[in-house]
Amino acid sequence: MKTIESFLVDHTVLTAGIYLSRVDGDAVTYDLRLKRPNAEKVLDNAPIHTIEHLFATYVRNSKYSESIIYFGPMGCRTGFYFIVRDNMSHETVVSLVKEAFDFIAAYDGEIPGVSAKECGNYLDHDLDGAKREAAIYADAIKDLTAADIYYKA
Ligand code: ZN
Repeated sequence: MKTIESFLVDHTVLTAGIYLSRVDGDAVTYDLRLKRPNAEKVLDNAPIHTIEHLFATYVRNSKYSESIIYFGPMGCRTGFYFIVRDNMSHETVVSLVKEAFDFIAAYDGEIPGVSAKECGNYLDHDLDGAKREAAIYADAIKDLTAADIYYKA
């Protein structure tokens, strides 16, 4: 089998950021990298899960909801995939990601979708951990612009 494109990215030089991963028709995939691969402690599952619920809730309630295709964690636990339609500019996506992580870092209240009926593992959540990780990431990307989203070849 051939090596898929994302394995060709040199993970030893990556830092926290927002990266343009691939474009498939009108579906644009961004890698939201929270942790330096193989260099920093990865995210625990419970905060990942809570970030997933809160990020998805935030962006699907934003004015861009019609353009949101998918948000979910990377199996390596260093970040998330965010897939949107190409009617959103890179600038808009970068702003929305910043807003969403600021929202999570400041979130107080009940985690959306946390019941046995709505979630596949509703006991595995950590709001404090999610807020802590979101604050670290929000700080890491606060000065990032659409010019910074390209993987170096
Ligand atoms: Zn869930």
